[in-house]
Amino acid sequence: MFNLDSIVRKNIKVLKPYSTARDEFKGEATIFLDANENSIGSSTLKWYNRYPDPFQLKVKDKISSIKQVPIENIFIGHGSDEAIDIIYRCFCEPGQDQVIICPPTYGMYEVSANINNVDLKRIPLTKEFQLDLPALEEAIEINTKIIWICSPNNPSGNSLNRVDIEMVLNNFDGIVVIDEAYVNFSRQRSFVSDLKEYPNLIVMQTLSKAWGLAALRLGMAFASTEIVGYMNKVKPPYNISQPVQTIALEALEEIGQVNDMIIFLVEARKQLEIDLLELDQVTKVYPSDANFLLVQFSDAKKMYHHLLSLGIVARDRSNVLLCEECLRITVGTEKENDSLLSAISTCPI
Ligand SMILES: *Cc1c(COP(=O)(O)O)cnc(C)c1O
Repeated sequence: MFNLDSIVRKNIKVLKPYSTARDEFKGEATIFLDANENSIGSSTLKWYNRYPDPFQLKVKDKISSIKQVPIENIFIGHGSDEAIDIIYRCFCEPGQDQVIICPPTYGMYEVSANINNVDLKRIPLTKEFQLDLPALEEAIEINTKIIWICSPNNPSGNSLNRVDIEMVLNNFDGIVVIDEAYVNFSRQRSFVSDLKEYPNLIVMQTLSKAWGLAALRLGMAFASTEIVGYMNKVKPPYNISQPVQTIALEALEEIGQVNDMIIFLVEARKQLEIDLLELDQVTKVYPSDANFLLVQFSDAKKMYHHLLSLGIVARDRSNVLLCEECLRITVGTEKENDSLLSAISTCPI
């Protein structure tokens, strides 16, 4: 049985979080002299002299109505990367606990484990880039705190089978993180609608991909009220700056435009896959539910340098497990995709 109290680190459980001026006074007033801000302010940027809302309530309110998730089940981080770090700091005792990742997958789960001095076990995906359930079951130990699942997965691009993820959620007594950075490009149902069913579930999403706002640095984590409570205790009080909150609020109004962009990018991905498969240089294109394709060439390194010589940068994944001779290629604009295709076609085989 999952028991949050036995999973969370003891120091975090008893942690008394920093109390901001806005924690101590939340009402209306006309003169604020409680936070040592500069009351005059910069003449050119005069709206920025006050600290931002540490609870990001306006942004959360908007996310809440878009995602149909109550505010108390939403955590906002400085990108998903901050959420990843904070999840480690809530649940993993350095030098003692361990987590499981399923490579090939997103690199930050491992980097963040290393930064936090947390042991990490790699249970590779199958050749079809799906979870290896028997191996996962075998790998889980008493000190295994987190299983990181990325779906749609980076760098393979495919979605992991929903029933397999449910199997992990139902049978693992630790935290299961599902990174859904690319979910808007797929037809899979998000796990955000299943938070009530799974007290051990954390779903991560981001404004960096489908929303087209990687420069903002805004990542979301959805989880039980208790988990979100712990994550909020650990985060720096003002982790989301005022400009980011203001711009995010504006951006979250543009849901229609974002949906059009998603439709365009998914169509462009399908077309790019078809066009790539017509080229002799391409030996395989893996099925993708994301805004990129994992493409296998007869000689990936040669292709990488050929593209680079023409000013096109792809991500060389040929040294990554199960990605032999593969480049990861982001879907570009129509013009960029055309340039890519003609560049690939001029590479001697
Ligand atoms: C791009 C990406 C993210 C986004 O991270 P941010 O810090 O929110 O920009 C998260 N997870 C995966 C798997 C990604 O590929």
